[in-house]
Amino acid sequence: MTQRADTVILAKTIHTLTGEQGHSAVAISDGRICALGDADSLATYISASTQIVDLGGATLTPGLIDGHIHPVLGLDISAGVDLSGVDNLDQLVEALRTAPVVDGWVRGWGLDPNAFGGRPVTSDVVVTAVGPDLPTLLYLFDGHSALATPAALRIAGVDGPRTFSGNAEIVCQDGIPTGHLLELEAVSVVSAVVPPESAHQRRRRLTELLGSMAAAGLTSANAMDFEGDSGELVTALEADIELPMRLRFAPFCMPGTDTEQLDHIVELQRRGGRRWRVDGVKFMVDGTIDGGTAWLETPDSHGESTAPLWPDPAEYRHALRYLAQRGVPTVTHAIGDAGIRYALDSLVDLPELPSGARHRIEHIETLPDDLVDRFARQGVVASMQPTHCTHYTRADHSDNWSERLGTERADRAFRTRDIRDAGAILALGSDWPIAPFDARSIMADAQLRRRAGHLDDAPILPGQALTARMALEGYTSHAARAQGASDAGAIAVGCRADLTAFAVDPLRCPPDELADAPIVLTMVGGDVVHRADHVDA
Ligand SMILES: [Zn+2]
Repeated sequence: MTQRADTVILAKTIHTLTGEQGHSAVAISDGRICALGDADSLATYISASTQIVDLGGATLTPGLIDGHIHPVLGLDISAGVDLSGVDNLDQLVEALRTAPVVDGWVRGWGLDPNAFGGRPVTSDVVVTAVGPDLPTLLYLFDGHSALATPAALRIAGVDGPRTFSGNAEIVCQDGIPTGHLLELEAVSVVSAVVPPESAHQRRRRLTELLGSMAAAGLTSANAMDFEGDSGELVTALEADIELPMRLRFAPFCMPGTDTEQLDHIVELQRRGGRRWRVDGVKFMVDGTIDGGTAWLETPDSHGESTAPLWPDPAEYRHALRYLAQRGVPTVTHAIGDAGIRYALDSLVDLPELPSGARHRIEHIETLPDDLVDRFARQGVVASMQPTHCTHYTRADHSDNWSERLGTERADRAFRTRDIRDAGAILALGSDWPIAPFDARSIMADAQLRRRAGHLDDAPILPGQALTARMALEGYTSHAARAQGASDAGAIAVGCRADLTAFAVDPLRCPPDELADAPIVLTMVGGDVVHRADHVDA
């Protein structure tokens, strides 16, 4: 007897990502795909209780998987006023004058240091806007650095330089803090004294965030944080609701982690719920180019970005291999050429992970020629964020990132196409809240090498543009291979029914149109988590 389907989806175009073509219907049973075909051939799967979802002219793809987000850490970073649209200091002052004061603090996030137009990044302009008495903490767009006003520093008891185990810094001039805080250890000195949100507020904000990600077509994401209350938060949330997307967490491993703590990270790997699990560990071998904290083979134009984030990088290598040998998939943030080289060298000759997941390197912002094919050769996943390139650098190298690197290294920026052409697995993602999470814009920018919708912007190294298929694979089949998930990233019998439907065909429509095209349906494990009404697909 033929199995009955819980749901049958009809769509004009179905991209299976398996090479199979020509289907226009998918049958789903118990959260998994049980048959592919067309409306006629799947008629036998339909019973009185089967839900028929007719998507008309829409295009159905495997559910989108974001390679790299910070959903919980991001709740703190994204509190307060969104400054990501601020282009200059006048706009900053204006945005801050109307910013809400919550529990006596002004908070903001997403500030691009290019807004300072080359002037020193200090909190002086913030004081101009909010006055001397209101404690204010603003995250810069990289999420690794912040600006704190003197009132905020006073509450945190900061009155001069401090020593940290990594390369964090309370930036000072003549011994007086300028308000610029570099790297998380320095930022957390101030963020720790900001009145915390209640658990209820955090659950509400996380629910909203995941809901808006699902509405943008995401069905799953690699969450690069499992710090603080993450486990309790997501457990409490799942007691109330079904998560609208899956989360795969990688807890941080920072410098100074001892063997007992490494064993704790191994222990954490067993934790999980219905739609979330801990599966990985996140290392950072350097910081950012914009902050002068990346690890470059030769210094940047400011004489900075010369050191690893781990004072002794051999300790990073030891911790990475210790965890990898115990079956933990590793993730390493490596941005500068020296950092990427060190991470790749550290991943040489490790046994394959029993889960089938791959070790991965995140960001890979400036990559020398001799490292390009190492990803494919070593089976290391490249996890990249195309909008870091298109939002924060410019083709004429007039931006802070390019100016720091100089022409030669800026011309090796975000080499997505070279890495793909060399045969590597390339997972794409947003790095939210460092950049917006919308996968449509990211897939568009990956093809355009400029911001979607900004038709007059010159493309940045257009030779690194991905094809539409490569961009979609970065969010589906390649993302699933990176996770070792053989039942995801494809529309095939037995795969979990995580699906995304677009009003346009993401493989055929101009990328600028893709960025604005409605998401018609998002489905996770056979549940409709988003359905757009009134869309003429
Ligand atoms: Zn990140």
